[in-house]
Amino acid sequence: MTDFASLGLAEPILRAVASEGYTTPTPIQAQTIPYLLEGRDVLGIAQTGTGKTASFMLPILHRFNEDKQRPVARGCRALVLAPTRELAAQIADNARAYGRYVGVSVAVVVGGVGHQPQIKAMSRGVDVLVATPGRLLDHVGTGAIRLDMTEVVVLDEADHMLDLGFLVPIRRILSHMVNRRQNVFFSATMPNQIGQLAEEMLSKPAKVSVTPVATTAEKVRQAVVLIEAERKRDLLVELLADPSFARTLVFTRTKHGADKVVKFLEAASINAAAIHGNKSQGARERALGGFRDGEVRVLVATDIAARGIDVEGVTHVINYELPDVPEAYVHRIGRTARAGATGMAIAFCDTSERGLLRDIEKTTRQSIPQVDRRLPGASDEETIHVSKLPRQGRGQRPGGGGGHRHGGQGQRAQGQQQRSHGGGGGGGGGNRQPQGQRPQRQRSQGGGGGGQQSSRRRDGGR
Ligand code: AMP
Repeated sequence: MTDFASLGLAEPILRAVASEGYTTPTPIQAQTIPYLLEGRDVLGIAQTGTGKTASFMLPILHRFNEDKQRPVARGCRALVLAPTRELAAQIADNARAYGRYVGVSVAVVVGGVGHQPQIKAMSRGVDVLVATPGRLLDHVGTGAIRLDMTEVVVLDEADHMLDLGFLVPIRRILSHMVNRRQNVFFSATMPNQIGQLAEEMLSKPAKVSVTPVATTAEKVRQAVVLIEAERKRDLLVELLADPSFARTLVFTRTKHGADKVVKFLEAASINAAAIHGNKSQGARERALGGFRDGEVRVLVATDIAARGIDVEGVTHVINYELPDVPEAYVHRIGRTARAGATGMAIAFCDTSERGLLRDIEKTTRQSIPQVDRRLPGASDEETIHVSKLPRQGRGQRPGGGGGHRHGGQGQRAQGQQQRSHGGGGGGGGGNRQPQGQRPQRQRSQGGGGGGQQSSRRRDGGR
């Protein structure tokens, strides 16, 4: 099992984490920390209660421990933007607790309190500044705070920022950050406007998410075939020669790709239909109806079109092309093995898709068993039959960690998972409970200056 030391965090941080009573990284921590330590941007889908604060704060502190520069006057080395005062105060508390052996300065800049103490706290610069957007922008406007030397910026609870009307201030804040920097973006959900902001802000981000869909994914037998792109067709036809592929869902990345697959399957006398955005509602319903009745044995779909598909008894999911987003893989394979049935998911991965495969394995924290077209002992002509594919995935964690679905259920599943791993370590800050039930830390926030008292009111921004 992963522990904090194996993630590569420096000793003073490990000591602080242990004093907090954390024994095991939560799934979002285990996924996010390695990417951030590598210096990559991260797009995280996770809600409060998953341990996301430590997932971005620990790597920031690691950076400061390795590189002990002083912050510039009025500047901050790391900026964390939070939607509410309460959350800002909690994040700052966490930064102080996790950074206590690194020795970091932390300030909070939020609305609803006087400007002067904040200006004073920032005058010599701080390592970590936690701020709500409106007030921060006020200080940037007057020159009391500069952001041009900031090395890391974290946008926390981005969807909540949208609800509170903070998108414009956030964009203005980002426009002041000319320095080359690392960006971290967390949101519990991904409405369009948030997806767009993430795209503007992040550069080649690693995508991480935590949810309960993984429990479905664990029931699915998975395999990946490493294959040349031009041989995928033949392999698909070969696989479908096996009658146990009774109701098979094939995924492609594009609509055009889906049509092409249907064409060559029909040419091979395999009854197939495509379902995607270019098809009329009637055509989609016919395809889906035929698939349900068993008239259409193979349904070829794109990710978006597959969203509404809920068909019992899908025996196989074939990822003819790997999805660009790892979470889509989990959604795809979750179409089989429904309601306790077992199912099989086979991915075709060509050379250009190896990176996507690695991302999927990182996100789902599973290594997908690889099979070659030529299984050991099989001749060239022999088909891959399902019986020859591995029955269980290697290296799958009981309890899982990846997946992607939002909402309260996710939070519950996370809590359960954490308990089963013995996290929480008894006591104070170690307990993982949904926000609102969590014990509030009592430590004063005066530590690094600017300390504002935690407030339960939403920050009006100013
Ligand atoms: P967050 O989602 O960051 O608000 O964290 C939720 C709660 O989980 C907080 O009370 C943290 O102190 C706690 N927590 C964070 N990481 C861990 C861990 N690895 N083990 C136990 N508790 C944790």
